[in-house]
Amino acid sequence: MSTSKEDIRAKYNLTDEEFDVIDALALRPTCEHCDKALPPDAPEARICSFECTFCADCVERVIGNVCPNCGGGFVPRPVRPARNWRNGNYLGAFPARTLRKHKPVNPAIHAAFSAEIRPLPPEKR
Ligand SMILES: [Zn+2]
Ligand SMILES: [Zn+2]
Repeated sequence: MSTSKEDIRAKYNLTDEEFDVIDALALRPTCEHCDKALPPDAPEARICSFECTFCADCVERVIGNVCPNCGGGFVPRPVRPARNWRNGNYLGAFPARTLRKHKPVNPAIHAAFSAEIRPLPPEKR
């Protein structure tokens, strides 16, 4: 099953802006660079503060812990509980997104973009 932005907007009657806010909080299903599957319990999923999502390998070896979208650093993505421990806050009620974002990083462009950022620890960016 795949869900498009327009399907989601229509279903919940959202404006473009509302969609973008919710989209930023989405649990994304794949690495943005290599398209590897990152299911909700994947220990190798990494996110930036905007929840741009990459696998640990790509964060380390391809983008050097510099988010190509915002310049921030990455942390391990927490696992959303699979079980309804409290108040319906679990994967069954808030499933991962099915809409993939595959936007591979161009190494030359990223090298130029990240040159100045890379030496700074994420908390100083
Ligand atoms: Zn990856
Ligand atoms: Zn980012």
